[in-house]
Amino acid sequence: MISAKNLLTCLLLFQSLFNFAQEIALTFDDAPRSDGGLYTGLKRSEILIKKLEQYNVPQVAFFANSGKLDAVGELRLKMYGQAGHIIANHSHTHPHIHDVGVENFIDDIKEAHQALNQFPGFRPWFRFPFLEEGRDENTRDQIRSALDDMGYINGYVTVDNYDYYLEFLYQQALKENKKINYDLLQELYIEHLWESIQFYQKIALKTLGRSPKHVLLLHENDLAALFLDDLISFLRGEGWLIISPEEAYKDPIAQHIPKVLMNGQGRVAAIAKEKGMAGKDLVQKSEDEQYLKDYFIKKKVFR
Ligand SMILES: [Zn+2]
Repeated sequence: MISAKNLLTCLLLFQSLFNFAQEIALTFDDAPRSDGGLYTGLKRSEILIKKLEQYNVPQVAFFANSGKLDAVGELRLKMYGQAGHIIANHSHTHPHIHDVGVENFIDDIKEAHQALNQFPGFRPWFRFPFLEEGRDENTRDQIRSALDDMGYINGYVTVDNYDYYLEFLYQQALKENKKINYDLLQELYIEHLWESIQFYQKIALKTLGRSPKHVLLLHENDLAALFLDDLISFLRGEGWLIISPEEAYKDPIAQHIPKVLMNGQGRVAAIAKEKGMAGKDLVQKSEDEQYLKDYFIKKKVFR
C-alpha cells in the first residue's frame, strides 16, 4: 500500500512537472497577407493548413486585417476556419493609434468585426496592430473599455520577435535574385524564434514563478509556410507542447490586465514591467533590425 509520505512525494512531483510544463500556442498575424516572392497567398494558405494537419496541430489562430479581404482573401480565411483554426480581429487597416486617434481606432476595430464575424472559427479576440495599446493611460483605457463593451478579449502574445523582418530580408533577396542558402535560412529562422521563446520564458519564470501557457507571435508569410513543420518539430524536440490558442488564453495571465504603458513586448513582459523590471531588460538583443541585417550578412545567407 502506498504510504501517505510516498503519496505526498508523488503529488509534489506531479505538481512540479505541471509547473514546468512548457506550452505554447501558434498565432499568425496580418492574414490574409498578399502574394510573396515564393508563394501566392492562396498557395501559402494551402501549405500552412496542410503542414498543421500533417504535424497534428489541430488549432492555431489567424489574426486578420479585414481591409485586405478580396475574393481570394475571403476564400483563404474560410479555408482556415473550415480546417478548425481560429479567425480573430487584427483591425481593418492596421493603423497606429497615435496616427488615427482613439475614436477612429475603435471604429476600425468595429469595421473589422463586421467583416470577420461571419467566418467559421471566428472569436472576439483583438490583437493590437504593432502590439501598441496606447501611449497614455487615457487612450489605453478607452480602447480597453470599448473592447470590453464589444465582448472582446485581448489576443495578446507572450513571445514577441522579429519574424516579419526576417521575411523582409528574404523577400528582398528574392527580388534581387540572390542565391539563397535555405538550410541556413531555416536554421536562423528557428534560432531567432527559439531565442525569443527562451528570453520571455526566463522573464516568466522570474516574474510569475511558473511557465505560463505561451502565445507565439508569427506572421502569415512565406517563411512561416516554408519552415512551420521544422519549427513544430524543433519545439517538440525541446520538450514543448503545442497547445491551442483557446487553451493558452485560459492561463491566469489572460485575466491579469497590466497597468502599464509598455505592452509592445507582450503580456509577460508587461506584467514584469508592472512588477518593477526595467524596460531595457524586457527587449532581447535580436529584436533589432540592424542587428538581424548584420547577422544575416555575416552568416552569408544570401549571396
Ligand atoms: Zn500586424
